[in-house]
Amino acid sequence: MLFKEIIGQSEIKNRLICSSTEGRISHAQLFLAPQGSGGLALAVAYAQYICCTDKQENDSCGKCSSCIKYNKLIHPDLHFVYPVALSKDIRVSTDVAKEWRETFLDNPYLTLFSWFEQLEAENKQAVIGVEESGEILRKLSLTTYESEYKIMIIWQADKMNPAAANKLLKILEEPPDKTLFILVCESEDQLLRTILSRTQLVKIPKLTDENIKTELSKNSELSLETIDNIAHLADGNYAEALMLINENENAAQNLASFQRLMRASLKFDPKAVMIWIDEVAATGRERQKNFLKYALHIMRESLMLSYADESIVKLGSNEEDFVKKFSPFIHANNVERFIDELNKAYFHMERNANTKILFMDLAFKFNELLNLPKPI
Ligand SMILES: [Zn+2]
Repeated sequence: MLFKEIIGQSEIKNRLICSSTEGRISHAQLFLAPQGSGGLALAVAYAQYICCTDKQENDSCGKCSSCIKYNKLIHPDLHFVYPVALSKDIRVSTDVAKEWRETFLDNPYLTLFSWFEQLEAENKQAVIGVEESGEILRKLSLTTYESEYKIMIIWQADKMNPAAANKLLKILEEPPDKTLFILVCESEDQLLRTILSRTQLVKIPKLTDENIKTELSKNSELSLETIDNIAHLADGNYAEALMLINENENAAQNLASFQRLMRASLKFDPKAVMIWIDEVAATGRERQKNFLKYALHIMRESLMLSYADESIVKLGSNEEDFVKKFSPFIHANNVERFIDELNKAYFHMERNANTKILFMDLAFKFNELLNLPKPI
């Protein structure tokens, strides 16, 4: 990770570079960085810079053998600790090292939630367990292979359980020579006071809206209006901005899919329904559940548009055009059943119902409901 790949934060980058070139590297540092500000990315770029054998004025060279290994996160003197979902097979960070490397290299602005999504462990507790401290000691006892420093980055350090934190504390009190600890944390509230007092604090500010706009402008598929909107909503959190883009794309796909299903169901067109079902069946269960939630949202907003004040309707501009045409089909005689059928479908989807049968059934029901007469 090069400093220039990190969004904004020029002041912090300069400070880190100076500390390295002036030989003032404190052995234990705490990067206190709000979500989406780049704390972890800065820690990796800093570590890479320290180990680079051809340091440039403002960045690592990116080409020396150390940098090449850093680019793939496989440098033997770089170690990571991060929360995992403890199980019989997963006890310490290295048990999911491959997943970790892939996740970080894909998006250095990962959050604890997105990391656990990768591990398919969204509902499990995130911890850095006590066995990790033993691992840290073991890794630090290894001789340095290739660089002057051994570097240990502990991400989400406040997820250390007390036993792990206490053991780490002992290491921080008597640090092995030429070892650098970088703890990365979103908030200091949960961190032991004693750990705070033994680390040098590096406060990383959240990004500005301008930082995020500049970064999003590199994506040519986003309109200026969307970029402004997302930068405003993300409030300095780039991870949030990425999530909003994802939602935006999903909404566009869901809208197109919903329109096609409604058209095919209205005058029941078996061929069009079958094509639609085959396409949706190929997308995977999470996307299908997401589509059902989206359909509920459109039903609710359509009803609002027919019966309530337009100002409370929450729709994107593309959705609004469609919903204005669609809302006359949603009325007191069918809305309750539409919502009921979608909720039932969602319930069965969560319990692994057969997707094709479920959506075929839904298309039949929609045909009936869309053709019910409006109340007079
Ligand atoms: Zn280099």
